[in-house]
Parts: sequence; structure tokens; C-alpha cells
Amino acid sequence: SKKPYRWQRVLLKVSGEALAGDHTENIDPKITMAIAREVASVTKLGVEVAIVVGGGNIFRGASWAGCSGLDRSSADYIGMLATVMNAIFLQATMESIGIPTRVQTAFRMSEVAEPYIRRRAVRHLEKGRVVIFAAGTGNPFFTTDTAAALRCAEINAEVVLKATNVDGVYDADPRHNPNARLLETVSYHEVTTRDLSVMDMTAITLCQENNIPVVVFNLQKPGNIAKAIVGEKVGTFIGC
Ligand code: UDP
Repeated sequence: SKKPYRWQRVLLKVSGEALAGDHTENIDPKITMAIAREVASVTKLGVEVAIVVGGGNIFRGASWAGCSGLDRSSADYIGMLATVMNAIFLQATMESIGIPTRVQTAFRMSEVAEPYIRRRAVRHLEKGRVVIFAAGTGNPFFTTDTAAALRCAEINAEVVLKATNVDGVYDADPRHNPNARLLETVSYHEVTTRDLSVMDMTAITLCQENNIPVVVFNLQKPGNIAKAIVGEKVGTFIGC
């Protein structure tokens, strides 16, 4: 039978920065609500949605490491905890509009959320629940982009949809170069060799090694999340 949508199961990566939007607080509730509404519109169509949330709006391990004697691992654990706060905020928002949602954390916080169990996550998705993966990979020295690539591969999702505050990948930095062009498609090779700053190297090579395409798009444009999830053309497509 012909698939009605391009993607059947997707991994949506929402960075902490995207959750903050232009808000002065760490999280803009208008953005979490927009995410909830758009995700609801596609789960109704039968597309399975898993989400990895970042934590950069609250705490970034790498930028704190070194300050005040904080070692990198400790800083990164704080960063991972930050992603849990975002995950619970997003879950509460989704459930407020009736979307069944489960949070799974990479390390145990059983009073707060389920521990990550791959088969259980897949089962939730099959039942039409949205699964939010929190605490990154559970390891310091990694990023939530790498967690997105890893979970995507683990649950056999077809694509990483990276929601950001920019329209996609440019051939130069649009903030400094007025002639910067938005690229429609880019190869993994170009991303790594031209230093296009899409994702860290660990994340992008994990996608490449597992043939996982990545779509980078702007979450602030209304309708974009839903478009990306159903596979409409939006932002930049990274693959091949
Ligand atoms: N982090 C980590 N291991 C992981 C994922 C995240 O140690 O597997 C920590 C790291 O300190 C990072 C912080 O959590 O700076 C927040 O995640 P990230 O910077 O990836 O969030 P985003 O940029 O997506 O907001």
C-alpha cells in the first residue's frame, strides 16, 4: 500500500534555544504550545513522533566548564538535567491539549519520568503517544544533537528533523555575509568538510553512518513543524 506521508516515524530535535524564542525567560510558552499543536495535527494523521529536547536555554556544559572550578563532566550533568526541565514543560503543554505523552530519561529519575527503555519507547509510539527523550545520551561530552541521532537510529525513525531559529543551512554566515544563500540540499560530506555548523561532528557522522537524513528548519515560522513532519519541503535537507 502507498504511504500517505513521506515519513512514518520521525525524530524531532528541539533545541533549548528554539524553546526560548525571543522570550526573556528560559521558555516561551507560546512556542511550546505551537509545538504541541503542530505535533497534534500530524499524530492525528498517524505519523509517529519522538522528540529530543536540548537544554541550552538553561545550561550549556561546555561554556561553564572551567569556570569556578567546575569540571566538564559535572557541568554536563547539569546540562542534562536542564533538558529534563524542558521535557517536562513540553510534556505538560502537550497533555494540556490532550496529546498522550511520555518522557523517558537517559538516566533514572523514576519519580519524574520513565527510564529510557527502547522497546517501551517504540511501543508508546505504536500506540500513538508522543515520546520525549530527555537527559541527552546520559553521558557527559555529548550533545543533544548526538542524542537525537542515536535515538533516531535506535527506534528506527526515518529522519532527524532539527527545529532551530534559522531557516536552514547557508553557504556562509547570514549574519555577517549579506550574500549568504540558503541551501536546499547538502551532502553529509559538505557539512563536515565545509564546516557548515549544522550539528557537531559526532552527531552528523552518526547520521551519515546510519543513512539518517536531517532536515534543518525554522520552528518560528507557523506551520513549519507540521510541514517538516509530514515530509513537505522545508528548510535544508541533508543526506547522501
Ligand atoms: N549534555 C550532555 N550529554 C548529552 C546531551 C547533553 O552532557 O548527551 C549536556 C551538555 O552540557 C549540553 C547540555 O546538556 O551543553 C544541553 O544540551 P545541548 O547543548 O545539546 O542543548 P541545545 O543546544 O540543543 O539546546
